[in-house]
Amino acid sequence: KIKQIAIYGKGGIGKSTTTSNLTAALSTQGYKVMQFGCDPKSDSTNTLRGGTYIPTVLDTLREKSAVNAHDVIFKGFNGVYCVEAGGPAPGVGCAGRGIITAVELFKQQRIFEELELDFVIYDVLGDVVCGGFAVPIREGIAEHVFTVSSADFMAVYAANNLFKGIQKYSNSGGALLGGVIANSINQPYSKEIIDDFVEKTNTQVIQYVPRSVTVTQSELQGKTTIEAAPNSEQAKIYKSLAQKIAEHTDSKVPSPMGVAELKEWASRWGDQLLAMETGLITSNAAG
Ligand code: ADP
Ligand code: SF4
Ligand code: MG
Repeated sequence: KIKQIAIYGKGGIGKSTTTSNLTAALSTQGYKVMQFGCDPKSDSTNTLRGGTYIPTVLDTLREKSAVNAHDVIFKGFNGVYCVEAGGPAPGVGCAGRGIITAVELFKQQRIFEELELDFVIYDVLGDVVCGGFAVPIREGIAEHVFTVSSADFMAVYAANNLFKGIQKYSNSGGALLGGVIANSINQPYSKEIIDDFVEKTNTQVIQYVPRSVTVTQSELQGKTTIEAAPNSEQAKIYKSLAQKIAEHTDSKVPSPMGVAELKEWASRWGDQLLAMETGLITSNAAG
């Protein structure tokens, strides 16, 4: 049975990097995978295709009125299928239309069934609070949602907003939350912050992913880490993430924090970090 997974997170947090490595890792584990970019940036699948852009669903539709889904599906690393929904020119039109249009096109042409996919992974920009970006959750298209977040407040804030969306649509057959992929976790305090956030919101961290220069090097070669450095420590982490997601079955309704609660939570962590830093300065001065 096909498993459809949506990966959300704020812009620049590492969604496409994580998703592409996940897709690549699942494919090396023998699964048939499609990565479905749902970000107007349309660069979700670049590192699966040597750093190149592919024509988007919206662009293709602008050129010809009748589009065969096969015209917008491109093969990438190890035979994975790549799709970019696309978006409007910056500052013009509806940002969510690419997703709505692309999802509808694929549904109508029953393309997932035809390709006999094991996984469809949607890489969705999650800090735009807009109906279009909620489509993969709302329509019950994806079953499981994961969010990429660092310990930075804006990333946590975006994750908490996503949880609100999931909670809202959970009564009407929407997707449920699988957990948080904690990205760029290199400091002990970053881990503590994320651990505390998932505990407060009744979810879990499915994988900690450190910030790594291997990722940067791979990206500069237009490749995922799975392709460029398959035996690296970082590749092991992405393979572990892939295995956990392949085995994952039970997603839940999260308990997002309210506005005041989140603010208070952040401010408590702020005090704690400040105290830690002050402690450091004092001991340095003493030494
Ligand atoms: P998003 O898709 O969320 O907008 P990207 O995946 O494009 O974000 O990542 C933004 C930048 O951060 C990229 O240059 C990427 O290489 C870098 N990056 C993301 N995760 C890591 C990581 N774990 N280690 C090193 N660099 C990372
Ligand atoms: Fe488009 Fe609807 Fe999003 Fe507005 S809310 S940008 S109309 S998808
Ligand atoms: Mg991206």
